[in-house]
Amino acid sequence: MNSIFDHGFLAEVHAMNPAENVNTRFPPEPNGHLHIGHSKAIAVNFGFAEFHGGNCFLRYDDTNPAGEEEQFFTSIADTIRWLGFTPARVTHSSDNFEKLFELAEGLIRRDGAYVCHCSRDEIKAQRGGEKGSSPRYACIHRGRPTAESLNEFRAMRNGKYRPGEAALRMKQDIESGNPQMWDLFAYRILDNDATHYRTGNQWRIYPTYDFAHCLCDSIEGITTSLCTTEFEASSESYEWLCKKLDLYTPMQREYGRLNISGTVLSKRKIKALVDEGIVRGWDDPRLYTLIGLRRRGVPPDAILTFVNEIGVTKATTNIQVARLDQTIRTYLGTTVPRLMMVLDPLPVVIDNLPDDFVEMVEVPFSADPSFGTHAVPFTKVMYIERSDFREVDSPKYFRLAPGKTVGLLKVPLPVTATSFERDPKDGRIVRVHAVYGASDGGAKVKKPKAFLHWVAESPAHGSPIRATARLFNSLFRSDDPESNPGGWKADINPGSEEVLENAMIEVGFNEVRSRAPWPARATELNEADDGPESVRFQAMRVGYFAVDMDSSTERVVVNRIVSLKEDSGKRS
Ligand code: ATP
Ligand code: MG
Repeated sequence: MNSIFDHGFLAEVHAMNPAENVNTRFPPEPNGHLHIGHSKAIAVNFGFAEFHGGNCFLRYDDTNPAGEEEQFFTSIADTIRWLGFTPARVTHSSDNFEKLFELAEGLIRRDGAYVCHCSRDEIKAQRGGEKGSSPRYACIHRGRPTAESLNEFRAMRNGKYRPGEAALRMKQDIESGNPQMWDLFAYRILDNDATHYRTGNQWRIYPTYDFAHCLCDSIEGITTSLCTTEFEASSESYEWLCKKLDLYTPMQREYGRLNISGTVLSKRKIKALVDEGIVRGWDDPRLYTLIGLRRRGVPPDAILTFVNEIGVTKATTNIQVARLDQTIRTYLGTTVPRLMMVLDPLPVVIDNLPDDFVEMVEVPFSADPSFGTHAVPFTKVMYIERSDFREVDSPKYFRLAPGKTVGLLKVPLPVTATSFERDPKDGRIVRVHAVYGASDGGAKVKKPKAFLHWVAESPAHGSPIRATARLFNSLFRSDDPESNPGGWKADINPGSEEVLENAMIEVGFNEVRSRAPWPARATELNEADDGPESVRFQAMRVGYFAVDMDSSTERVVVNRIVSLKEDSGKRS
């Protein structure tokens, strides 16, 4: 199979450094849930190691206690497992806090770092001020004796200074054309009350990304350090620090980010949506967090297929959410069983069938015979979609109307509507009357132009299965919520969720549920795809659905994963 690893950018990366034991890492900051963009980083890092028979570590980059929470550690690990990857080791930047402190002392001794007491404004001025408009100059603390910096660094650790009063800076090259070499911070002091999830209040000083990231890569023996291109300028400092400390320098390469438009991915914005009750949580199916996509019912392998389809190069990939939905739709088309479900039921009484009439109709689960078939009761009373009936027929209309004959999926003969009843109070149509077989009662029937999905009333067979169906539409009205003149929130689509409380599913659902996960478990990849959302099916003529975790023994709740076809007007 052609994959992102055997040709193109990632194959070239490997060719440049064909390490015998490939080691990669996925280094998330545990301050939020992962989103669709991270699936690219996961697929690249875990997939690269797997492809070359190596190891990928999950490294929590936990160098800033503010915002890091236990729930994020757990959620990140779960999501990686759900995507089908197993970290060879789970590590933390904080595992190395003691070691990093020693390395920082070593760096000071090698005259590679100094303690600086300048204000933010002062440091900005040293770096050339606003847009580099003034000449750059060295910090006055840069030349202080090594011993003094060592003492001050220990004093920082011991709590002598408040945040902002002292910091350790690397002695790099203020003359360099690369701003990521302008004496970057190595350590800063954080608030006393910032409690680290793992190290508690043991530390007041924390290493920066620029200091910790490369050293953790080096300590862990990473052979291929892959990150996104916004870190390209940081690679000079990465190498500078490893070399200055005489440490092993991993090979680094940068690939383009995956950006998704038509939604928001930033933690701050998603948090606002959650806090304001616009979505039901970080796992709301309308969000493009990975826990949201999971809850919606998107199969993990569909996400990996998507990442493989868009490929990996140095260029940033900007993708519309509709393109991801299209990949999901195609993927589901051949991997999940089909059922009949009526979202908004309208009863149809077949007047020429006896009250106790039951015919078991054989319905295949798929066009692929290996999915098997199941039996569905067909009786005197059944439900069709309210939108499949019209009071007045017209020549270009093929579904049900008085006098019109239509087929019912998998039922041997068609039905013809004869009349309908209204609710005397509100005029709503409450029941349609029809006859089964030829409308004149004779044996000759024309082949109908349309076939409707239906669910019969048959308490003896437990039919119908009543359900709540949640239909999700785009959470935003435009493809670019940020460009709304009223701000991104003004772009929120008030109709992003439709809830149908009276949906009805045919009895084949019981078997689909007991045989889950769908896609059927064929590989280890599916092992963690075991939640309610792994009960996935195509509701014929309606869309793809999965069971929501809000389901109980009394009530089935299903989520629409994607519609059957891409809507031409509004996105789904
Ligand atoms: P965000 O700011 O979007 O929440 P982040 O960069 O803060 O993401 P990290 O936890 O630092 O999230 O990311 C972990 C890894 O995932 C990093 O290696 C980062 O480069 C990668 N990553 C993050 N977002 C994307 C993306 N959109 N496309 C590809 N890789 C990404
Ligand atoms: Mg980040």
